[in-house]
Amino acid sequence: MTANTKGLRLDHFSRVVFFTGAGMSAESGVPTYRGNGGVWDAYDWESCACQRAFDHDPERVWDFHDMRRQMTAACEPHAGHRLITELESAAPNTVVVTQNIDGMHQKAGSHTVHELHGSLWRVRCSGCGAIEDNHEVPLSSRRHSCGAYWRPDIVWFEDSLRLPTIAKAIAAIEACDLLVSIGTSAVVFPAAELPLVAARAGATLVEINPEDTPLSEVYHHCLRMTASEGLKRLADDL
Ligand code: NAD
Repeated sequence: MTANTKGLRLDHFSRVVFFTGAGMSAESGVPTYRGNGGVWDAYDWESCACQRAFDHDPERVWDFHDMRRQMTAACEPHAGHRLITELESAAPNTVVVTQNIDGMHQKAGSHTVHELHGSLWRVRCSGCGAIEDNHEVPLSSRRHSCGAYWRPDIVWFEDSLRLPTIAKAIAAIEACDLLVSIGTSAVVFPAAELPLVAARAGATLVEINPEDTPLSEVYHHCLRMTASEGLKRLADDL
């Protein structure tokens, strides 16, 4: 493992996957889950981010998610998000696999984004299952026309990942020749295991994170810097 990217040229790779976590959006002002100022320092997920909480008190769960939508809507993609978009324009096989629900990659212009944990900007009817994109802040009606509550189309604590989404993410990762992991603590399963899929398939692995993670030793290159700094370093080495 090396602490730099000397000799690593992005244009030597034809199928790049960017695997992103909450740290990717930290420089945009979206709080991470863990660490100082993390969302769960101030809120208790059992009362606002699981199906049990929603079944018990959907209004309270929506108050929390409206607050998150309002906070996230005020945030803008940073230079790192935009660099990923530029790389995707130059190399259309580029894929983003994200654990983030904030829609920041799409706001920056990325097209192929697999959202493992769903999106803050989609709602799903808890009655009939209808799904819609929705960017209202706050949500104008918390109920679908069928009468049942909308719920955020997010994979909450204790929910299972959507099989079609995870299947697409795994297919992209198995086929990639470079995986760049950015701002993930590698402790939320099963997403944390995905870089191992790329390692088994023989891809080159780069980690961008100011801190070590439990998976750091698997990576060929580790850049101990922020997302925007690390992505700039990769792009500058082109
Ligand atoms: P995490 O909060 O567990 O870990 C964040 C990681 O980012 C840490 O390893 C930290 O060292 C690193 N980091 C912090 N600042 C950074 C920066 N400027 N640049 C690069 N890295 C930085 O996040 P996780 O691993 O994504 O897992 C937690 C879960 O949190 C995921 O399931 C995700 O769905 C959810 N989440 C999403 C958002 C979002 O949509 N933006 C925000 C909070 C949590």
